[in-house]
Amino acid sequence: MIELNHTHDAGARSWVASANAAGSDFPIQNLPYAMFRRTGSPEPFRGGVAIGDQVLDLAALAAGSHVDGLALDAARAAALPALNDFFALGPPAWQALRHAVFALLHSDAPAATADDLRGCLVPQAEVEYTVPARIGDYTDFYTSIDHALNISRLMNPDGDVTPNFRWVPTAYHGRVSTIGVSGQRFHRPMGQAMAPGAKAPTYQACARLDYELELGVWIGQGNAQGEAIPLARAEEHIFGLCLLNDWSARDIQFWEMAPLGPFLAKNFATTISPWIVTMEALAPYRQAWTRPANEPQPLPYLESSANREGGALDIRLEVWLESEKAREQKTGPSRLSGTSFRHQYWSIAQMVAHHTVGGCSLNPGDLFGSGTISGPGEGEAGAIIELTRAAQTPVTLANGETRGFLEDGDAVLLRGWCEKPGHARIGFGESRGTVLPARG
Ligand code: CA
Repeated sequence: MIELNHTHDAGARSWVASANAAGSDFPIQNLPYAMFRRTGSPEPFRGGVAIGDQVLDLAALAAGSHVDGLALDAARAAALPALNDFFALGPPAWQALRHAVFALLHSDAPAATADDLRGCLVPQAEVEYTVPARIGDYTDFYTSIDHALNISRLMNPDGDVTPNFRWVPTAYHGRVSTIGVSGQRFHRPMGQAMAPGAKAPTYQACARLDYELELGVWIGQGNAQGEAIPLARAEEHIFGLCLLNDWSARDIQFWEMAPLGPFLAKNFATTISPWIVTMEALAPYRQAWTRPANEPQPLPYLESSANREGGALDIRLEVWLESEKAREQKTGPSRLSGTSFRHQYWSIAQMVAHHTVGGCSLNPGDLFGSGTISGPGEGEAGAIIELTRAAQTPVTLANGETRGFLEDGDAVLLRGWCEKPGHARIGFGESRGTVLPARG
């Protein structure tokens, strides 16, 4: 795991004043990556680093004379229209570019450097984003025991998770074609649903549309087919994390998913945040990964002292909903729930180790979903089906509207951040997606 270093110093300030504002998601300690261009322009997309309310244009940086060596190689790779080549360079190059950018944006940088670099900044308010890498494969895990228990108990109040849950970081292989960046708008899916007690399914617009609060895990360097990534090396293959909303059609899902898993219920849209927060930026917010003594302990290939000491990540997460009416009334979104990723039953390193133990190859730019992130308490559920017990106890929005499931026009916003005494607060920005009416 990455050791703390000077780029984590809570006292560091940037000459970009907005980066020093309290509550900014993007102080100099963060430096996340996205793929951007000026809104509506014919410019090519290229990599950028967030600093305050600005984007540092990595193509402009790479064309200048402020970086050299490995950092320049990294900046040139990150200046391309997808981050795959940058991911493939591996942790030394990722660190070289982070440390170079940190020095250049630091308040101690020479005034002439700052003056020159102002020309490489673009206001975030003037840019649009795209999916930051060519995603070869997308795997969505199922690793929150609180989520799994909440779903199980909808069917049976004494229900438990399936026997494999406590032994396997389980997952299904999802669709890449419908993954979109924040701002994504999609039509309510059509599909088959079987009403309780009915003898035949109906073809209809999804009546039980849901979101899932997840983190996306971006694979950096891959592995050759047949060569498993051991748990001890797993984090070297993870570039960073983003927010991920795995939109889910529950009525379609519960009819179609036996015996092979989700299909149309999950393949119509997935929304990610544009910004990828690197594993190096997340280093201060690690926590011990624990498994209660009365629960099965991991099999040896999923067990290590490093994972025990720092496998968990305290990433605070929230779900907000803005209805069409709230948008018209300008009353803003309503907070639905909040939790932390630290409760997850399996760590991201365990996901990588398990994914590859049978010989599966990963490639730079592959994406994992963490699985829905729910915490143990009330109001910590990461899906509306849990919060409303499948619409039996609807939630009330700030303007008095109620929701059992999502309605047309609803926008769902995910937010995430880390904070800890003695360390800077860093954030993930936002993932926003909007439900349009079914096309019938
Ligand atoms: Ca999911």
